[in-house]
Amino acid sequence: MRPVGRINSSLSCFVTTSRLGQLKRQAFMRRILVKLVAVLITAVGLWFVAVDWSWFIHDCPDCGYSKDVAQYRVFTIAVHETTHDRPTITQYVARDLGVPCQHTNSTSWHKHRWWGLLVCKSPCINGVYALTGDDSWYDDDVSAKVTALAAADSAITDDFVQAVFEKHDLSFVQTVLDRAGVESHSADNSPHPD
Ligand SMILES: [Zn+2]
Ligand SMILES: [Zn+2]
Repeated sequence: MRPVGRINSSLSCFVTTSRLGQLKRQAFMRRILVKLVAVLITAVGLWFVAVDWSWFIHDCPDCGYSKDVAQYRVFTIAVHETTHDRPTITQYVARDLGVPCQHTNSTSWHKHRWWGLLVCKSPCINGVYALTGDDSWYDDDVSAKVTALAAADSAITDDFVQAVFEKHDLSFVQTVLDRAGVESHSADNSPHPD
């Protein structure tokens, strides 16, 4: 074999090897890229499925009390929670009569779920859910009058429990207030304003 032919042959061999290396590198980079994209899509998907901000409302059918519970959740497990109470006149009267409502029949419902903290869906329930009323007039003086009524008339407590908690006759709240000598206020049973 002539020296030139040998050089040519090894040169073409070198070129082929280098081209092969380039193709291998490209394939490798493509695989890395595909993996990165897959990891990214999985991470984003996981974030949306796992992390949410949810708003729940607890309602007590007996005294009208309601409570907001807002939670940051990971796989529906609360990691941070804030609550907001909305007491009612009925609740105050029950407390002062010595029969505070334990909210044992309280139910809760899911108002909003922000998936991945970004998308509100399933559920996303808007609208007024709790009318607000003014309860500022129910001060210590009113409280003392209702407490005094309960002390003077032991039957009133049983009547209250029967009428309000059992029959859900909220007009009896007003009856109690009238009998306690509380200056006329409509016993607005709706939760107090924020
Ligand atoms: Zn209650
Ligand atoms: Zn919503």
